[in-house]
Amino acid sequence: MSINLGMPALPPPTLAPRRKTRQIKVGKVLVGGDAPVSVQSMTTTKTYEVDTTLQQIAELTAAGCDIVRVACPHQEDADALAEIVQHSQIPVIADIHFQPRYVFAAIDAGCAAVRVNPGNIRKFDDQVKEIAAAAKDRGTSIRIGVNAGSLDPRLLKKYGKATPEALVESAVWEASLFEEHDFHDFKISVKHNDPVVMVKAYELLSERGDWPLHLGVTEAGPAFQGTIKSSVAFGALLSKGIGDTIRVSLSAPPVEEVKVGLQILQSLNLRERKLEIVSCPSCGRAQVDVYTLAEQVTAGLEGMEVPLRVAVMGCVVNGPGEAREADLGVASGNGKGQIFVKGEVIKTVPESAIVETLIEEAMRIAEEMGEAAEGGEPTVTVS
Ligand code: SF4
Repeated sequence: MSINLGMPALPPPTLAPRRKTRQIKVGKVLVGGDAPVSVQSMTTTKTYEVDTTLQQIAELTAAGCDIVRVACPHQEDADALAEIVQHSQIPVIADIHFQPRYVFAAIDAGCAAVRVNPGNIRKFDDQVKEIAAAAKDRGTSIRIGVNAGSLDPRLLKKYGKATPEALVESAVWEASLFEEHDFHDFKISVKHNDPVVMVKAYELLSERGDWPLHLGVTEAGPAFQGTIKSSVAFGALLSKGIGDTIRVSLSAPPVEEVKVGLQILQSLNLRERKLEIVSCPSCGRAQVDVYTLAEQVTAGLEGMEVPLRVAVMGCVVNGPGEAREADLGVASGNGKGQIFVKGEVIKTVPESAIVETLIEEAMRIAEEMGEAAEGGEPTVTVS
């Protein structure tokens, strides 16, 4: 028996159309225009330690990171850029503060882009013409990265603190310097650690020009708080179509930033959803340990690359209904689990066999979906 997985022919709906921005290139990744919203992260290694930096970049790449940024505080870091760029599978952005000469070094090293911070504007001010010329020559793009923590002192004085208006004024001023020199391949960020200020800043900025925008809540905090702050802020903006590339900043290993970023985009249908576990919160009716079951199923299916929705439900009251809506599901009760594939009960297994049965069935469905993706209708056979 064959069951159509019901995968929609049209892309799933989003909350708003993307705002029209001009498109730039960050190496092989397009940012802005109709390009998918990309996910960025930043290495935590000493950039001059090339092997460990490349190892971390490889881990980020495997996790789904689209673009990586490396810090470049010293000459030895600048000297390492060419080798890192050469061996990285994803575009490398050099993050430069204070020292314009490292901007030129990063461009020479073949970095896909360079991030400059206008908070250090007096240092960069005089050299924008040369930076724009060198970047244009090598096809390097720029990120104008305004950050509340390093706002231009003149604007701090004018506004009293890093308000949305102050962040935007800094960004627009720096943008005008590049545009005066006919350089347009840049994106902008106006980061703040307060999601409310950050959202207002990006909203204001989006009204001022068609620059592609890099979203970030800076210093968002440890994983739990940072994930929530970033999700709330990015959600508020992306749901209005604002944002072309994102970086979640966490006091946690950078791979975690990528996972959170991808999950935010998937939740908003801005990326294809991969594995999705629909598990109930459990309640007094539960006849199985839902938390453990959901964790075991999640762990067993980690890394699955097909869009599979797996329902793990604690009882037979709501369980069958929810499990029916998923590609695969279990509704538990009386020491047993009813296993559903796209709404059909395919078998009932003892509670101890639920996890292994779900994983086996998921693998089988994934294989069939993979074959279907290579040609033909996405269908699943019910064994
Ligand atoms: S599926 Fe059952 S156990 Fe889970 S929350 Fe709903 S009623 Fe409670």
